[in-house]
Amino acid sequence: MTTATSPHAFWLAGREATGDETLTVTSPWDGRTVGTVAVPTEDQVEQAVAAAASVAAEFAATPAHVRAAALDHVTRRLTERTEEIARLISAENGKPVKWARGEVGRCVSVFRWAAEEARRFNGGTAQRLDSDAGGTGRLALTRRFPRGPVLGIAPFNFPLNLCAHKVAPAIAVGTPIILKPAPATPLSGLLIGELLAETGLPAGSWSVLPVPNDRMPSLVADERLPVISFTGSGPVGWSILDSVPRKRVTLELGGNGAAVVLADWSSDEDLDFAARRIAAFSNYQGGQSCISVQRVVADASVYDRLVPRVIEAVEAQVTGDPSDEATDVGPLISEDAARRVESWVEEAVAAGAKLLTGGKRDGAAYAPTVLADVPADVRISCEEVFGPVLTLASAEDEEAAFAAVNDSKYGLQAGVFTHDVQAAFRAHRALEVGGVIIGDVPSYRADQMPYGGTKESGTGREGVRFAMEDYTYERVMVLTGL
Ligand code: NAD
Repeated sequence: MTTATSPHAFWLAGREATGDETLTVTSPWDGRTVGTVAVPTEDQVEQAVAAAASVAAEFAATPAHVRAAALDHVTRRLTERTEEIARLISAENGKPVKWARGEVGRCVSVFRWAAEEARRFNGGTAQRLDSDAGGTGRLALTRRFPRGPVLGIAPFNFPLNLCAHKVAPAIAVGTPIILKPAPATPLSGLLIGELLAETGLPAGSWSVLPVPNDRMPSLVADERLPVISFTGSGPVGWSILDSVPRKRVTLELGGNGAAVVLADWSSDEDLDFAARRIAAFSNYQGGQSCISVQRVVADASVYDRLVPRVIEAVEAQVTGDPSDEATDVGPLISEDAARRVESWVEEAVAAGAKLLTGGKRDGAAYAPTVLADVPADVRISCEEVFGPVLTLASAEDEEAAFAAVNDSKYGLQAGVFTHDVQAAFRAHRALEVGGVIIGDVPSYRADQMPYGGTKESGTGREGVRFAMEDYTYERVMVLTGL
């Protein structure tokens, strides 16, 4: 049992455990210690993997109603404890508490969807095979079975919900999971463990292990974990895929999301709305969202009217203490992260970009920033900034705007402000991304929709149902003599 002074336990095969080492979780806002977390030893990691492998067959045979009831339980408990959990996310991640409540709400919907999908998944299909003479009297019956235990690796920026996206689909299909939360924000992932521990799922079917990064390669390589679901940065994600090309690996990586404003989105009301959404979602979570708005490409006919509106809306963002209800933009995850963003903005300005607002750093906080006339070859144009920085550009027409969006090594989501349904379909066809959001910024994600990227933004799709498919494979049984 964890006491007020002892480190937070981790979850080894469904039970609390502590090791010799600890890691300290620090508030990005004021540097205070939010918690100390025990770190598993190599031997404990081995125990968790062995338990996952040995319980896999039993867990797969657990009735759907039992797994769905466990997911329902977590849904209920998250709802009941929303305020406390939101404060925890805000403390360890620096996310404004009002956004953290939203993250808990998203997590509730992930577990609720997973419970519903668990009940209807695997209905199976029966298919007559006698359309060919050789299939006379034969019937094919198809069901999905788990590929095997999953290693779920989560990033810091949505420390609760992106852990939920790994765990809930695994329970829904009855496959064991080892969850590895981010080192900066392990407490939210461990909290999911606390709720799972109340469900009575088989021991060994889940573990939450804050394994240090330098010990991850051996866990990634472990053959008893044939499925890896990774959300995080590109270099780490692609190196995982390169190291285990035969495993089923899903990579949810970074992006430099674009919002396009087309010529028809031109009334004062339209432009005010677009500016407010762009300002909110280039700064949401301090810009540390893989689908935050990093680039705006506006038709030249509306560009000059959009720019002052965007600046005004960005300057209206309230920065400060994430525990304050009024705060829109808190600190970045660390002072190092803010220094990196600062250096990228300085590089862009030195190369000729115009700084329209922002550009100031205070510790880990970086002011909401807007740049225009940014050269194409500076990092703020071609890399993922992962900070509250927005670049503005104009395009002479729709085709040029879509080409500008595609002129990126990333392809996660794009937003297109248009009322024209034909233009919406053209955008859907032309944009090389995993999701096109019409009438809004790229930053929209519903947890049940297929979600993921093209190009360097990743491979595979998440979203409860899609992760369930990823964690399983179809196995056919042919019945003869019917
Ligand atoms: P990160 O890559 O530094 O870390 C992600 C996770 O990988 C952490 O749990 C980390 O401990 C672990 N890790 C580090 N080294 C590892 C190794 N060698 N082997 C296995 N695991 C290792 O990413 P981050 O800074 O926590 O998150 C930010 C990134 O995540 C951004 O690029 C962002 O765009 C991306 N992201 C993507 C999505 C998406 O769904 N596409 C969602 C959120 C965040």
